[in-house]
Amino acid sequence: MAQIIDGKLVSKKILENLSDEILFLEKKPSLTVIIVGEDPASKIYVNLKKKKAQELGIHSNVIEMPESVSQKELLDKIEELNNDDSVNAVLVQLPLPKHIDTKAVIEKINPIKDVDCFHPYNMGQIATNGKPYVYPCTPKGIIRLLEYYDIPIEGKNAVVIGRSNIVGRPVAQMLLNQNATVTICHSKTKNLDAIVKNADIIISAVGQKNLIKADMVKDGAVVIDVGMNRADDGKLCGDVDFYNVEKKAAFITPVPGGVGPMTICSLMQNTFDLYKIQNGS
Ligand code: NAP
Repeated sequence: MAQIIDGKLVSKKILENLSDEILFLEKKPSLTVIIVGEDPASKIYVNLKKKKAQELGIHSNVIEMPESVSQKELLDKIEELNNDDSVNAVLVQLPLPKHIDTKAVIEKINPIKDVDCFHPYNMGQIATNGKPYVYPCTPKGIIRLLEYYDIPIEGKNAVVIGRSNIVGRPVAQMLLNQNATVTICHSKTKNLDAIVKNADIIISAVGQKNLIKADMVKDGAVVIDVGMNRADDGKLCGDVDFYNVEKKAAFITPVPGGVGPMTICSLMQNTFDLYKIQNGS
């Protein structure tokens, strides 16, 4: 039976430390989130981020813009935040309405305030094994989980399923930077089963329930499930057939309670880290 990787526990410990550090600061770190339109899921995510920031003593500000906002108005607002010394971290909640060029919006954020690490400067630093201001939240959370459970990365075969800019690509590059041998799979990959079967570390970031089945998993593998899906009974589930894979893996993340809590935890840590960088500490 696999050891459960408890993202709730790890994130709680990290956030407790962070809260202690913030408590003693005279001037608090500050996070500004821009949300465009009325997407219900985006509103829930933004409220969660705001609530978590407030709990930790991070100053948080949410700017709501209407669905009809023009590209120029949005870019001007980001420019204003870039020039505002009281704002340490800027996040634009995605997805944006179709008439907005998401790439232009991401590129407008000053990389030193790019708390999500979506800007090409920061992503380029990761791709070239350089030094981004901060790391993207979900990949950073995954690496921290591996570190917390003393799971070695160097020399291991890591298979990442999914190649999004938010999760798959950066986590693959971060594993490569830590000397794993990395294979990236996607929707056009042939023989997914055979590739996954060779993995010491499996990271599934697809969004398809039961994609990773027990017969695809090597005995003793480490299984990190990023997926967030609805099971037939309406409950949240990941990409991995948890019930059966748990019997073969050495370590496994549950959904919920695995990677999810680490993502918001990384966002808070990133806000604090940007604050420190901007204040020269
Ligand atoms: P995404 O942008 O939709 O990317 C999904 C990736 O999966 C794509 O690269 C796609 O390949 C690949 N894919 C689709 N079907 C596949 C298949 N049958 N076999 C192999 N690869 C396949 O998604 P994302 O934003 O990375 O998110 C992935 C999942 O993680 C979602 O369920 C999302 O909700 C969840 N998520 C969770 C957290 C968290 O904190 N827990 C954070 C972010 C995302 P192509 O590139 O060829 O299309």
